Amino acid sequence: MQQLIAGNWKMHGLTGQLPLIEAICRASARSPADILICPPFTLIARAAEIAAGRIAIGGQDCAITETGPCTGDVSAEMLKDAGATAVILGHSERRHHHGETNAVVFAKAQAAAEQGLSTIICIGETQGQRIAGAALTVCAEQIAGSVPSQSHSSRLVIGYEPLWAIGSGVVPSADEIVEVHRHIRACLIAHIGAEALNVRILYGGSVNPSNAASILRLPEVGGALVGGASLAVTEFASVIQAVPCQQNRS
Ligand code: PEP
Repeated sequence: MQQLIAGNWKMHGLTGQLPLIEAICRASARSPADILICPPFTLIARAAEIAAGRIAIGGQDCAITETGPCTGDVSAEMLKDAGATAVILGHSERRHHHGETNAVVFAKAQAAAEQGLSTIICIGETQGQRIAGAALTVCAEQIAGSVPSQSHSSRLVIGYEPLWAIGSGVVPSADEIVEVHRHIRACLIAHIGAEALNVRILYGGSVNPSNAASILRLPEVGGALVGGASLAVTEFASVIQAVPCQQNRS
């Protein structure tokens, strides 16, 4: 399975940062991985124009409905119209700052799938849940509640992002990552059937040039979801370069 390196720019990026898209396209030209950048809504159309299919451009959220009186919302169809081919859904910052429940994420995933967008559905436990030994249960509940059961593997990606690792510089141990990724695979198989065998499960949370190679070699890790390190081309390029060739995977 080809790995996916996805950059989540969050609420960073003005038109002055658009040259970064060209630089990332060049840095990823010979990469064995698929590359996706999810800039803020305001930059999607221009980023897609610059990328011109060399890398994918995605959104960071979409609305449940297609059109209507939803001030401030952006639909999946609008993302597609702007040139996006993918969307991040259920990021912990949406779940926690905007009260998005599993049911909301599920509805958004259905809306995105109807438009043919690839979805990266994010799941992951809080620090308290990990300490309480509930990490696997939380991930199982989030998969069961957020992932539409008729999802197709080519358009579904799971982002495992423990909240305590996001932006903290702390990453789980290799054993912890593998344990959760294996559990996610098993939950997905129970939920969507054999399709789940081809779903990429990304690790996200403080991925950077110094830890990317060891994380990306772990079994069941299908790539990385990168926040902070996707905002600087040298850092993001190093993460891309850390993608192992298929024969070097654990
Ligand atoms: C994220 O929030 O999706 C993320 C992975 O952030 P960071 O890489 O900065 O921890």
